[in-house]
Amino acid sequence: MELEERLNDVRSRISAAEQQGGRPNGSVQLVAVSKTFDADAIRPALQAGQRVFGENRIQESQGKWPELKSETSGIELHLIGPLQSNKAAEAVALFDVIETVDREKIARALADEMKRQAKTPRLYVQVNTGLEPQKAGIAPDDTVEFVAFCRDQLGLAIEGLMCIPPVDENPGPHFALLARLAKACGIEKLSMGMSGDYETAIAFGATSVRVGSAIFGTR
Ligand SMILES: *Cc1c(COP(=O)(O)O)cnc(C)c1O
Repeated sequence: MELEERLNDVRSRISAAEQQGGRPNGSVQLVAVSKTFDADAIRPALQAGQRVFGENRIQESQGKWPELKSETSGIELHLIGPLQSNKAAEAVALFDVIETVDREKIARALADEMKRQAKTPRLYVQVNTGLEPQKAGIAPDDTVEFVAFCRDQLGLAIEGLMCIPPVDENPGPHFALLARLAKACGIEKLSMGMSGDYETAIAFGATSVRVGSAIFGTR
């Protein structure tokens, strides 16, 4: 199958899941995860009208997205991978949405850089819903307090919450937990669901899904 066919298949599955969940058509944003794929592999997605992309590494993104952004207007780039505070300047410069805010140090570094660069990427807080030691994200129990800290102490608008459920578990309870936490924080956006479970995530209220291999192929 060509990329455009795979992309259209994902789009129609998203529409069907929206409809099934009683959600308005077009209410779920598709973030096409292009990590590990080079500019030539990404251009067909741009040609097929896709404008929202996710990447998990800053350095890799710097090698392809400035060029792609200069060729095509309206691109929205999401950082979905772990962020070190010494990379905050680069992240603020390149990304339109940073989905992996998960600790005070990185929140402070982003707040400083956003002032310095007079740029305001939209921000999501990553929650480690499975409390996995190897995984980034704030603990569920600390989420409400952390979001309040970002807002009240740093003046950062937190637009949404993001999670990556443990690979070997039923994702439903993790999506439900993220939705509950968002409600407790007064947050409406939920970034959850990947190639294997995005329809489930939509049923639990995802407002954006991050789909890589189902569009670009296996990595
Ligand atoms: C790679 C990645 C995805 C996409 O995963 P697929 O299974 O290829 O759809 C989504 N979210 C994050 C955070 C990722 O790192």
